[in-house]
Amino acid sequence: MIVAIDGPSGVGKSTVARRLAQRLGIPYLETGAMYRVLAFEVLRQGVDPDDPKAVTEVFAGLDLRLEPHQDGRLEVLLNGEPLGDRIREPEVSEASSQVSVHPEVRRKMVTLQRALAQETGAVLEGRDIGTKVFPETPFKFFLEAPMDVRVERRFNQLQRAGQNSGSREEVLEEVTRRDLRDTTRADSPLTMDATYHHIETGDLDVDEVVEEIVRRIGEISQQH
Ligand code: C5P
Repeated sequence: MIVAIDGPSGVGKSTVARRLAQRLGIPYLETGAMYRVLAFEVLRQGVDPDDPKAVTEVFAGLDLRLEPHQDGRLEVLLNGEPLGDRIREPEVSEASSQVSVHPEVRRKMVTLQRALAQETGAVLEGRDIGTKVFPETPFKFFLEAPMDVRVERRFNQLQRAGQNSGSREEVLEEVTRRDLRDTTRADSPLTMDATYHHIETGDLDVDEVVEEIVRRIGEISQQH
């Protein structure tokens, strides 16, 4: 079973995907973490995230692996080591959306993600899961929430990760900038079509979103 969850930054995709995966007893792949690990290494090497050739070279030399974590997640390892919350820092967030614009980067990421998830089935969460990574799955969900709710969720997530250095205004700027880049890039922009099941999460808590997805998965399964 492949469940695709897409949506804009800060909508709560990771938290929902993790709980849903536990509920379904399949692994969970946070694809954003893969772009973040690449961005982390690009910045560490002093490479310009907007330079497609240089970024592709960094990617080629990367020892990027995914291993099952005890909480059900497929954890992204760089040179065999987890990077933890270092990949959540604001500069890495920004650079992750910059490196994800490059078609060669996307092509390689999608190949890796498909290979990983196909073996076991998985809940995958990102921006292009239902359009590019697994367009054929019937279980496609697009999560949305008003901007003020997304800023609050993202702000709280950063606080929990011990990175509350920025104000809400800064979080708003970051989310707005990344959303714009993610929705307007030429290759695989964040977009929703009629094959997605749309869920407005503004008034729902995490468990309610998970319940709603489980309910709809039941309905979709009966139709197939
Ligand atoms: O989901 P998260 O915010 O961690 O993703 C970081 C960045 O990686 C996003 O802003 C987006 O630019 C990029 N991304 C992507 N495609 C995915 C997942 C993430 O382009 N499937």
